Amino acid sequence: MERILGPQLAEFIRSLHEEHGVIFHLEDAPAAIDPRRVHTKSGVALDADLVVVGVGVRPRTQLAEEAGLATDRGVMVDAHLETSAPGIFAAGDIARWPDPHSGERIRVEHWVVAERQGQTAALNMLGFGQSFDAVPFFWSQHYDVPINYVGHAERWDEIEVAGDVAARDCLVRYKRGGRVLAVASIYRDLDSLKAELDLERQAIDRQS
Ligand SMILES: Cc1cc2nc3c(=O)[nH]c(=O)nc-3n(C[C@H](O)[C@H](O)[C@H](O)COP(=O)(O)OP(=O)(O)OC[C@H]3O[C@@H](n4cnc5c(N)ncnc54)[C@H](O)[C@@H]3O)c2cc1C
Repeated sequence: MERILGPQLAEFIRSLHEEHGVIFHLEDAPAAIDPRRVHTKSGVALDADLVVVGVGVRPRTQLAEEAGLATDRGVMVDAHLETSAPGIFAAGDIARWPDPHSGERIRVEHWVVAERQGQTAALNMLGFGQSFDAVPFFWSQHYDVPINYVGHAERWDEIEVAGDVAARDCLVRYKRGGRVLAVASIYRDLDSLKAELDLERQAIDRQS
C-alpha cells in the first residue's frame, strides 16, 4: 500500500500484519498453484489450503466503446456524471470524472464514491443538474485498526505526520506544492472530518 499511503503507513501496516503472524514474500510472485501448494518464482513452495488472489481490477469499457462513448481507462463523464452521449450517465468504479479538488480527471474504486456518484447521477437523470464535488473517501480495516483516507493524492512531494503512527494515533497529510491533497488517519475521526471540510472549502474557494 506504499503507492497510496506512503512509506510511514505502509511500514506500519506491514508490521501490524507481521504481529498477527503474516509472513510477506515481497519481490516474489506466484509461478504455479497446485492443489496443495503455491510455488513462487524464487523457488519457494508454500503449503496452502486456500489461496486468495488480489490482482486488482480493470474496468470493462468494451460495451461503452462499442456504443460510441468517450473512454479513457474508464468511461469519461463531465461534472454532472454525464457521458459524451447526452442522457447517458456513468457512476462508480467505471467513471472518470473531473475532480474539482485535485483539478484532474480521476477514477476511484471505492465504495462511498460509488454510492455518492450513484445519488448524483440519479438526480441528474431527473434534471437536477448537480455537479459531483464530493471529496473522495475510503477506509481500510486491518484487524482492529481502521485507516480513514479522505482526498485523492496519486503523487505528492511531502508527507507530514502529526501524532504517532506506531501508537495508532496519527493524521498523515499528503501535500503537493504546499497544498494538502489528501489526509489519512488512525483513530482521529474528528480530525479526518475536519480535513474533509477543509478540502471541500478549498475547492469552493478555487471555483469562486
Ligand atoms: C475485494 C474488494 C475489497 C474492497 N474493499 C473496499 C474497502 O475496504 N473500502 C472501499 O471503500 N471500497 C472497497 N472496494 C471497492 C468497492 O467495492 C467498489 O468501489 C464498489 O463496489 C464500486 O461500485 P460500483 O457500483 O461502481 O461497481 P460494482 O459494485 O462492480 O457494480 C457493477 C455492477 O454492474 C454489473 N455489470 C457489469 N457489466 C454489466 C453489463 N454489461 N450488464 C449488466 N450489468 C453489468 C456487475 O455485475 C456489477 O453488479 C473493494 C472491492 C473489492 C473487489
